[in-house]
Amino acid sequence: MSRDRKRGALIGLAVGDSLGAAVEFREPGTFPPVTCYRGGGPHSLAAGQWTDDTSMALALADSIASVGWNLNDQARRYIQWFEEGKYSVNGFCFDIGCTTRTALNRFVECQDATKSGLTAPEDSGNGGIMRIAPVAIRYCEVEQNWDACVPMLHHLGAESSSVTHASDMCKSAAAYMTVVLAALIRGQSREEALSYHPWCDELEPFTRLIAQGAYKTREPHGTGFVIESLMAALWAFHNASSFEEAVLKAVNLGHDADTTGAICGQFAGAYWGESGISKTLIDGLDRKDMLEQALTGLGVA
Ligand code: MG
Ligand code: MG
Repeated sequence: MSRDRKRGALIGLAVGDSLGAAVEFREPGTFPPVTCYRGGGPHSLAAGQWTDDTSMALALADSIASVGWNLNDQARRYIQWFEEGKYSVNGFCFDIGCTTRTALNRFVECQDATKSGLTAPEDSGNGGIMRIAPVAIRYCEVEQNWDACVPMLHHLGAESSSVTHASDMCKSAAAYMTVVLAALIRGQSREEALSYHPWCDELEPFTRLIAQGAYKTREPHGTGFVIESLMAALWAFHNASSFEEAVLKAVNLGHDADTTGAICGQFAGAYWGESGISKTLIDGLDRKDMLEQALTGLGVA
């Protein structure tokens, strides 16, 4: 049922984020492999607490639920997290990326979300795709006909990223991810959702390589670079046999582990659904009430 997969996409994001938080910035192989929630990490969190990835997704979900599609409103809610700690698991803004911080400061100056995002290739971090699930959840059925839906999802995904991450790579990766998440939520098989379709011709070259399946053969690097990050998440997801196997593979790549986990968790949650996530992982999440509130806003209470 699509409700289960919609809920899975957002809950999966938070689960992957929380699992990776304790080993963020660590070299792979230098820590005991993550098998469940663990406290600590660079932000000294309790086990099951999530980071900026989930906070920004909650802000985006709240914006969509409150006013529909409005980029300035999305930016204003990110600022509420940035300045006041709203949408945070512990009331503080932490783990914010450089590109996000710069873009939000620019928004404070110009009040125009079409100008706030950073456009240079070197600013191609993974901050646009780590939070994207609410877009796919809300708009995956915006058109009954899938072929008519794809260009809309493509556009909304790119726009959502561009508020902070507006390089061609970031927008393209977000567009691709939004379409694939929506396809999974609508019940397409994993193979079908991840296979190369004519619409992929429009992607920028690195994202197109991903759409062609580059993650199946290349060594994964769970860094903060959007292309590597998306590749690593798909490497972990594409042939895993369960939600848990996928997200654990992702976070154990270390480096930007929480975000690789959050991205993988969105794909895995959209595919296996909330019902495919273990009770231990769901019950162990901190501030589930905040996730439930977002899911209610997105129409999947
Ligand atoms: Mg984070
Ligand atoms: Mg991160």
